[in-house]
Amino acid sequence: MKSFRKVPIPTWVLLILVNGSVLCAGFFLFLMTSLNALKSAAIEQTEINLRSFAYSIDNLLPSPPADPDAFVKNLGHSNPLYRITLIRPDGTIIADSSANISTMQNHSDRKEVQQALSGREGKSMHISSTDGRRMMYLAIPAEYNHEKIVLRLSMPVEETVIFSKRTKNSLTLTMALIFFAVLLSSLIISFKIINPINMLQKASDQYKNGNFDYHVMIQSPKEMAALGKSFTSMADTISQNIESMKKLENVRKDFVANVSHEFKTPVTSIKGFSETLLDGAIDDTENARHFLNIINTQCDRLMGIIEDLLTLSRLENDNTAPDTTNTDIVELLRNLCDNMSKTAAKNKTKIEFNSERMVLFAKINPGLISQAVSNLIENSIKYCPEHSIISLDVGEVLSDSGKKSVRIIEQDNGPGIPPQYRERIFERFYRVDKGRSRETGGTGLGLSIVRHIVSLHAGSVVETGRTDGKTGVRFVMDIPLTT
Ligand code: ADP
Repeated sequence: MKSFRKVPIPTWVLLILVNGSVLCAGFFLFLMTSLNALKSAAIEQTEINLRSFAYSIDNLLPSPPADPDAFVKNLGHSNPLYRITLIRPDGTIIADSSANISTMQNHSDRKEVQQALSGREGKSMHISSTDGRRMMYLAIPAEYNHEKIVLRLSMPVEETVIFSKRTKNSLTLTMALIFFAVLLSSLIISFKIINPINMLQKASDQYKNGNFDYHVMIQSPKEMAALGKSFTSMADTISQNIESMKKLENVRKDFVANVSHEFKTPVTSIKGFSETLLDGAIDDTENARHFLNIINTQCDRLMGIIEDLLTLSRLENDNTAPDTTNTDIVELLRNLCDNMSKTAAKNKTKIEFNSERMVLFAKINPGLISQAVSNLIENSIKYCPEHSIISLDVGEVLSDSGKKSVRIIEQDNGPGIPPQYRERIFERFYRVDKGRSRETGGTGLGLSIVRHIVSLHAGSVVETGRTDGKTGVRFVMDIPLTT
């Protein structure tokens, strides 16, 4: 069997067909109803005309004319639309306005004549055999020369006027106008709707090929313009999502590379020294102790990295608001400074605690906030030379949005951080001075943990550098009083 490929019908053709059929069907229905109404009106009017003329003639008959046939022919002459016939009860013709009575057949079998003979008004309608016109016949009982007769009138029903040439012309014109209106409206609709649909189709093709910068510009109709805008904003969102997924993927790759790198140094060192020990150095007690100390330090370093990574991963997995309790933050941080003073003293460093308030309650997770602040103080102890002073100031501030926050300022008089690194130090594994960080057992993760904890409390932390002209760091941490 031969199979034919389906050729898609253009939408504008479909619109013309559908619109055209609906409009034509509507017009046809309207026409038929109107024609029927006109037909009934024409029949009714013809009947009225026949009746009134019949009774007028009937009034003339009592004074009988000498020649009835001449009388009706005369009447017919002055009223050419009517045919007047006088019929005897036996059906023979007395007079007729338009025919020779000697040639006329007996009319006793005519329905209207029979009805009139029985004393009623008789009526009938049929198509004339001579000219094919629809004729209406009306017969009434009458009296002529003291004899009962039938007076019959007939005339064409004027319905033909409905189908006159003029009517036909105006109908054709109306149909042509409807056709052009349908054509025009279909083309306009197809341009107004199909065109935007084509534009959307083009846009979705572009998005399919990964070009999310493509923007759909539809002006009208309103609904299509809104759809176009949604398309564009959807593409923007997808593009942003792809962008952030790429960034995330890069962060993940960097992270894996960084972690491997951080692990490699201590592991290499442990392996090297343990091999040296196995190769015989173990017998040299002095050296063996030294090598074992190095191995121990490298293990501590590995442990430190693992602990910080676990802390970060816990904070990231728990990305929701942490469990908080109403805590006196002044007391919490004063105790923390006291505890850390012992470690600082080993480095001949002093920690000063200042608070403008005796107590200051905030809804925080005390364990996490302690960890964040102790990370800052530990860094200061690590990076500051001996005899340095670390200060921690606690107070309350009003943010731009009018919300109250606890402000914790941590300062030292160490080397400080060059302005260009003030944001980068919060990235994982980012170190300004790599040698110094490793030397002091830094993991490069401390400040990432600080920022994570603060953002879990809906707060912020930045390094601003000291504002009094001295060198050293100045970390400003704001935590909303109620989160
Ligand atoms: P690390 O374990 O290396 O200290 P952090 O994330 O805690 O990692 O800090 C990132 C980097 O910021 C550090 O390596 C260091 O270069 C710098 N830094 C942090 N605190 C201080 C400080 N108080 N003084 C000088 N540099 C600091």
